[in-house]
Amino acid sequence: MTPRRQAVINARLFDSGSGTFLPHSTIVIEGERIVAVTQQALQVDDAELIDAGGRAVLPGLIDAHVHVVAASADLVGLALQPPSLVGAQSSHIMRGMLMRGFTTVRDAAGADFGLQEAVARGLYEGPRLFISGFPISQTGGHADMRPKGVRGSAMFCSCAGIGLVGAIADGVGEVRRAVREQVRHGANQIKIMAGGGISSPTDPIDGTQFSLDELRAAVEEAQAANLYALAHAYSPRAVTRAVQAGVRSIEHGNLIDEATARVMKQHGAYLVPTLSTYAALADEGQRLGWSAVMMDKLASVRSRGIEAVRIARAEGVPVVFGTDLLGHMHARQSGEFALRTAAMPPVEALQSATITAARLMRQEAHIGQLVPGTWADLLVVDGDPTQGLEMLAEPEQGIRVLMQGGRVVRDRLAA
Ligand SMILES: [Zn+2]
Repeated sequence: MTPRRQAVINARLFDSGSGTFLPHSTIVIEGERIVAVTQQALQVDDAELIDAGGRAVLPGLIDAHVHVVAASADLVGLALQPPSLVGAQSSHIMRGMLMRGFTTVRDAAGADFGLQEAVARGLYEGPRLFISGFPISQTGGHADMRPKGVRGSAMFCSCAGIGLVGAIADGVGEVRRAVREQVRHGANQIKIMAGGGISSPTDPIDGTQFSLDELRAAVEEAQAANLYALAHAYSPRAVTRAVQAGVRSIEHGNLIDEATARVMKQHGAYLVPTLSTYAALADEGQRLGWSAVMMDKLASVRSRGIEAVRIARAEGVPVVFGTDLLGHMHARQSGEFALRTAAMPPVEALQSATITAARLMRQEAHIGQLVPGTWADLLVVDGDPTQGLEMLAEPEQGIRVLMQGGRVVRDRLAA
């Protein structure tokens, strides 16, 4: 059987590698992949045509920090739900992401291979999923959600195999075992908690977590399986230790200074800021029942988020698109673009959600750019993305055509 042939013509193609737009482009698709991209005249009579009418055509977007299982901001309550319910809720969240133009997401803990498989088989409509499995956390670390006073570990049933509560590991041996467990369950990358967090009850935001030996062991086990580690960390101290231990991407990183950014640059590390979740929680955290301690932690990092982006950029650290939203706040995902453009031009914000994210994930042969060989994940959008990204903020209107793996998910060209 010959694969279905499609061609997007009259495209103003976003070359994400160079950050430029190439007018009069044609993109030829066979089956699920792009087979040719040209600015020359090309005979495509044998293909089904999508006439972009001179509109900008972007690679499908990538969000490198999501939690598709986070159907609620009540993470403890979520951990007590049956996996069937978590899965059903996740399908809703994933569909929303896809409809906003995110054709790939890196799940920064929580999602398992079942969800990944459900998307791959078309049972759930959603972005391609790169999963981390459980986050690895020390006792009392960011993914140890047990409230003060709870001593046993029986509170959460980790048999569910899904959720945001961490694999608790102390000491090099336990850390190795915990990473190997995630690898065994098909993790695409390994998430470790290298410093304090907002949603965890008793760890200081500027503290460090795990010993250097434990951090190195986690990275070594990830690399042994040809994977890499991403680390949750805010403070210069926590970020520096994680990067020196070999962690590839720093998640959040709000409190970094110039010296820390230079260490990141030296080690080839990426920064994945998640500005929208702070904006969302500042608006809604109190109503969601978050404690005063949590809201204080939030305030201490929120104001520094955009500054961290400026510092990383100035030192040449690649900055990747991430959001980290919870519950109904997922609706704010595309709002991350507007928050970022306070510190970078729109084209760079687009690169952060395409090619730079793909490079972090070592997937640039498959996603993040429109070149022969990559998945046919693309968006035909209204407006001029060099001037602003409003079209992504109103995706139902602004994204005219949404294609994932050669399948047209939305076609509003005629509308
Ligand atoms: Zn997160």
